[in-house]
Amino acid sequence: MGVGFSDLEDELAALKKQNIYRSRRVVSSPQGVNIRVDGKPMINFSSNDYLGLANHPKVIEAFKKASRRYGVGTGSAHLICGHTASHHALEEELAAFTGRERVLLFSTGYMANMGVIAALLTRGDSIFQDRLNHASLLDGGLLSGAKFKRYFHNDLEDLESKIKPHDRRTLIVTDGVFSMDGDLALLPELSVMAKKHNAWLMVDDAHGFGVLGETGGGIVEHYGLTQDDVPVLMGTLGKSFGTFGAFIAGSHVLIETLIQKARSYMFTTALPAAIAEATRTSLELVMVENWRRDKLFRLLAHFRSGAEQLGLPIMASASAIQPLMVGDSHTVVKWSNDLLEKGFLVSAIRPPTVPRGESRLRITFSADHEQHQVDQLLDALVAVTT
Ligand SMILES: *Cc1c(COP(=O)(O)O)cnc(C)c1O
Repeated sequence: MGVGFSDLEDELAALKKQNIYRSRRVVSSPQGVNIRVDGKPMINFSSNDYLGLANHPKVIEAFKKASRRYGVGTGSAHLICGHTASHHALEEELAAFTGRERVLLFSTGYMANMGVIAALLTRGDSIFQDRLNHASLLDGGLLSGAKFKRYFHNDLEDLESKIKPHDRRTLIVTDGVFSMDGDLALLPELSVMAKKHNAWLMVDDAHGFGVLGETGGGIVEHYGLTQDDVPVLMGTLGKSFGTFGAFIAGSHVLIETLIQKARSYMFTTALPAAIAEATRTSLELVMVENWRRDKLFRLLAHFRSGAEQLGLPIMASASAIQPLMVGDSHTVVKWSNDLLEKGFLVSAIRPPTVPRGESRLRITFSADHEQHQVDQLLDALVAVTT
């Protein structure tokens, strides 16, 4: 008799009973507002491709051209023979764009967060995390072995009460735009507090980068915060930038430390160079095509005023993420399925992604949506929730 999986079967059955079982839908079209899911056309309100760059012809062309130059695979990690001129150029351009000394590319945002936190902290150090931080930040904190303290969401008093003067190396880390709520971190205040307590401050700007700020520089541009104010800046490239990967931006010393010590950087294959080239084109579009951000924010304002008039339970979000609070996981799954029937793809967010009793529809917007599609969504929301 081999080792059985009956334990796992019991666990899976329990997830189903609680309505938190997850399954995949199969997409057979490019990413975009009009998407084909399980063979059916849908209007997509669930993607993080906020600026509509994932299927942009110029981005695709850059990818193709670079594939012809470099092939597909990079063959090794950055520290062996995988770091191409395209990766290097992208790092320099992102550094200039973010106003930081240096940038280091990572293969994913998850790996960037794990890598940077575990490289900076060790046993005996302390990490302070907003209660609603992304899973990858929490996992990075656990991996580091540092003393782990979570503070109430955006609650600076609670944070300060937990910081002790004898703490050794201390890192305060927060989402910039909270991924399931859409609200912003109180970053200027956090920066003041970090300086006061001699702590490092890190922001994960996965959902702000490209969207917030005059030129799409993200939450640090939105608030006008320098490298001195926010010494560790993380951004992802798979969301607004429409490609793949992530980066850490900061001082020369920070980046050199990560090259020596971030294990998720050292021990993984470099991103395809064609992804780096596609991202360089995305960066140009992010900088030049202001209309994408302008249109996105017009659509968001239209949605919010419509939802308020209709009495829909929208949350206080200032970003492209507009959640509708539902409560229990059974109802949210039902509503999401009803929307699917009507041709709208909107994700149902349940525990453990959000706390128990706070299940929600996570509605996201793209610069490629049109106002009439937002109106259609509002009608559908009213129909399924009443
Ligand atoms: C998506 C996301 C990540 C992970 O980035 P990937 O590149 O998708 O691995 C990290 N942090 C936040 C807040 C995110 O939303």
